[in-house]
Amino acid sequence: MTTTTPFHDATADAAPQTQPTTVVEQQPTATPGLDLTPAPPATYPVAVPAPARALDLTSGVPVAYQPPVAHQAPVAHQAPVAPAPVVAPSVAPGPGRRPRTPAEAYAALLEGNSRFTGNAPHYPNHHTARRDALTQGQEPFAVVFSCADSRVPPELVFDRGLGDLFVVRTAGHVIGPTSLGTIDYAVENLDTPLIAVVGHASCGAVAATVGAHETGRLPDGNIRALVDRVMPSVTTAKAEGDGTLDECIVQHVHATVHQLPVVSPAIAQRLDAGTLGVVGMVYHLSNGRTEVISHLGDFRI
Ligand SMILES: [Zn+2]
Repeated sequence: MTTTTPFHDATADAAPQTQPTTVVEQQPTATPGLDLTPAPPATYPVAVPAPARALDLTSGVPVAYQPPVAHQAPVAHQAPVAPAPVVAPSVAPGPGRRPRTPAEAYAALLEGNSRFTGNAPHYPNHHTARRDALTQGQEPFAVVFSCADSRVPPELVFDRGLGDLFVVRTAGHVIGPTSLGTIDYAVENLDTPLIAVVGHASCGAVAATVGAHETGRLPDGNIRALVDRVMPSVTTAKAEGDGTLDECIVQHVHATVHQLPVVSPAIAQRLDAGTLGVVGMVYHLSNGRTEVISHLGDFRI
């Protein structure tokens, strides 16, 4: 699809939400702890209701976008937000100061992506002094849990440097014991205030799962483990929408965001305490922008 419509923040013109909004009650893996056993091929559970949206990830332009209503589970993850100022990129701390809150970290990521897409990167923290300072330890301000696709390198996409991002990557950003343990390490030991789940247009992992869903033929070998973990998102997207690849990609980011506090007590506790935020983004290959589609925590998108 070719379009000249400029990319815009779809949250600004969102239509009223019409889809189911309660999430936690419908999580199939609502039991605490790690229960990541792949689902049987014929009975894939539905993980998270699909957000109402229509995105054209090929062009990078959201179409009639309707963002999901923020997490409304009857737990403290969506604690009332104080009448704080709306988070904007301007809240990001200046050079040399590490973002300390979910809002600051989120703003810093947005600012970096804006520099990247504007062909005006600052390449912060690429210098020798930064490298030397990091020999004493690390204090990354965001976990980026992204697809492993070579076209979505987090430090470039968010214009960050050494020691800024704690990057965890699996094909299709699938959650497994080791990837979850890696995220938990940053959250628990490095006090990282934000987790950004980053999917992307034309994701091969999601496309392979859509193919398996449509043909009934599952891949062999270790790739099967990826498809098993993406399949609930594809099943949901097809049950609640057209189930296009774009819809499946958006749904899978949305589902990953909402699964994290279910399978990680450390993440859930910090969300409750307001010291951690989780944001889901879809990266558009065509223009380099990251579109926010889902979030948990006491900060605004
Ligand atoms: Zn991918």
